[in-house]
Amino acid sequence: MQKKIITAGSLMAVLALTNCTSVQTQEQSQQTQAAVEQKQEETNPLLKEWTGPYGGVPAFDKMNLADLKPAMEKAMALNLAEIEAIANNPQPATFENTIEEMERAGEELGRVFTYYGIWSSNVSTPEFRKIQAEMAPKISEFNSKISQNEKLFQRIKTVYDNAQKNPLPADQQRVVQLVYEGFAMEGADLSPEKKERYAAINKELSSLYTKFSNNVLADEEKYIVYITKDQLSGLPESFVKAAAKAAADNGQEGKYAITNTRSSMDQFLTYSDERALREKVWKNYYSRGDNGDANDNNANITRILQLRRERVQLMGYDNFAEWRLQNRMAKTPQAAMDLMLAVWPAATARAKEEVADMQAIANKTSKTKITIEPWDYRYYAEKVRQAKYDLNSDEVKQYLELGNLTQAIFYTAGELFNFNFTPVPEGSVPVFHEDVKVWEVTDKTTGEHIGLWYLDPFARQGKRSGAWATTYRAHTTFDGKKTVLSSNNSNFVKPAPGEPVLVSWDDAETFFHEFGHALHFLASNVKYPTLNSGVRDYTEFQSQLLERWLSTDRVINQFLKHYKTGEPMPKELVAKIEKAATFNQGFATTEFLASALMDMHLHLADPANLDPDKFERETLTKLNMPKEIVMRHRTPHFTHVFSGEGYATGYYGYLWADVLTSDASEAFAEAPGGFYDKQVADKLVKYLFAPRNAMDPAEAYRLFRGRDAKIDALMRDRGFPVPGPQSKK
Ligand SMILES: [Zn+2]
Repeated sequence: MQKKIITAGSLMAVLALTNCTSVQTQEQSQQTQAAVEQKQEETNPLLKEWTGPYGGVPAFDKMNLADLKPAMEKAMALNLAEIEAIANNPQPATFENTIEEMERAGEELGRVFTYYGIWSSNVSTPEFRKIQAEMAPKISEFNSKISQNEKLFQRIKTVYDNAQKNPLPADQQRVVQLVYEGFAMEGADLSPEKKERYAAINKELSSLYTKFSNNVLADEEKYIVYITKDQLSGLPESFVKAAAKAAADNGQEGKYAITNTRSSMDQFLTYSDERALREKVWKNYYSRGDNGDANDNNANITRILQLRRERVQLMGYDNFAEWRLQNRMAKTPQAAMDLMLAVWPAATARAKEEVADMQAIANKTSKTKITIEPWDYRYYAEKVRQAKYDLNSDEVKQYLELGNLTQAIFYTAGELFNFNFTPVPEGSVPVFHEDVKVWEVTDKTTGEHIGLWYLDPFARQGKRSGAWATTYRAHTTFDGKKTVLSSNNSNFVKPAPGEPVLVSWDDAETFFHEFGHALHFLASNVKYPTLNSGVRDYTEFQSQLLERWLSTDRVINQFLKHYKTGEPMPKELVAKIEKAATFNQGFATTEFLASALMDMHLHLADPANLDPDKFERETLTKLNMPKEIVMRHRTPHFTHVFSGEGYATGYYGYLWADVLTSDASEAFAEAPGGFYDKQVADKLVKYLFAPRNAMDPAEAYRLFRGRDAKIDALMRDRGFPVPGPQSKK
């Protein structure tokens, strides 16, 4: 669930406002003229047009950090000149001379931010972080200059008002609506004094976001637990090997490093027999950003919440949540809360049952009497899993080899989307690290080129944790066809040379999940860049839905093969996995919902004197949070919410999307062809993937399903009791 689409804080807002391409030529202001001249003598590699095969590809082999700052400054100046020219056009405002020109502007900036995103997420260094901290307020200022450009907004408003009277073609109408609402939500209608304050707030926020995420990263790098050979009891061999390598990489040859990342913590807590070490690893992980030292995030959180509240109050909203959710599928904080609270009691009740099962096993097996603590949860859950379901995670892993899984996602894409994946010739497409591999995506029937797919599979220093998907170039046709450059990024532990990459069932699901985002990018058929934008509580749906294909018969029989014998996963093991699917849902749903509810409560509370630690404790007490479970992301390292605005009051979106996922997957399960039913697959692509944001999500869903989604399928999937009279959301 912590999978996310990359959001670089306010950067996405910048890109959303300035979506891409070349300089317009009519009515150029002097400023634009100067910009054009500059453009012609451009030598900075980060600004240069992408050349080479497949409609041009990023020059990842020419990335030099010294070029970044000048490139960003220049790209922002060029884009501002373009915007000025649009705003000062003496002709009456039309869709073509205003909206379409805006869609076209910011080409250089889009390119620089592609590189910036790679430095920030894939190959970060202390030197880069310095530049990032320096640039964050400048980017915010730049963003404000556009969103608060009075003349520009008046032109947008004119086009919008005219379109209300005389509607444009559907896709243009949607673009106008999204652009207009985007500006209005960013304070374009404010008085000059309020606008000034608005911009100052955003500038301060952007620095705080950078500080917040850098503090978390610093604590992830700082708190590594080194253990010795006699402390390895219970740990799987693959983990031990990787831990030895990680220790050696950190100059601690002969020891074993338990790094402070989710996958390392998760595995260690599941398998290690050393209870005191489990506690230590757990404490390190859940104290990130909360250590009372230079990297402590508590003061940053309070300030962020205060500034967010102040900013939306300038526009007449009560609180950040109300402002944020107006254009989400949920529409109001109440609707999101209602859904969360409908699921919460079932989740915590199930957690209590899980703890009772674990305590019983602990009583039987532990030499000393123990009470289940949070650092025991995963360990005893694994024991219960083995006892109740006789399911050994390590045995399952033997059938989940990364190369086979990659073929499995390609097969799925072939069946549902009619896509074909072929590795590009070695060296033909530049990459930013030798581990990155690239495939060409074509239509299976026509052979038409659709795009490229980059995969950066392994964890390494300077790469952010978790898994995510992003695009370097999105599909559009309004200005000539542009094909998609999509990417998936994971943090699989790189094996010792010659060893296979075996992953957990969860990680395999995540792999399908992120690929779902990539397919969503690749399937796009929209004309305008703005229509590629995502609706936060909806864009996780497509990716979550794709996870369901991992456990289909065809994938299991063809691709989930034992890495040594090549035998497909045995029927009994599959049955056990299916039976165990609702296992530990009390834990998973509770840890997620605690974070999602906290996110919403933090933004609904009065931030004036808010103490995040105290607020977190008190809110959890009020919610009756089981003491054996901790929030999936505690507030001081909740980067979804505080290292940018993408998921602020939006973390519930995963659950919202999951309701849609469960409901949509029943559409497949009920179809004659099951998960490979051609008719349902066609509707899936046509209504749920290809239109992206060109259609209202609720309407798109109704076209797919013939009705609104219901919560019932989700409750069934998690093994919770289905609530009384059919509940709609
Ligand atoms: Zn996702």
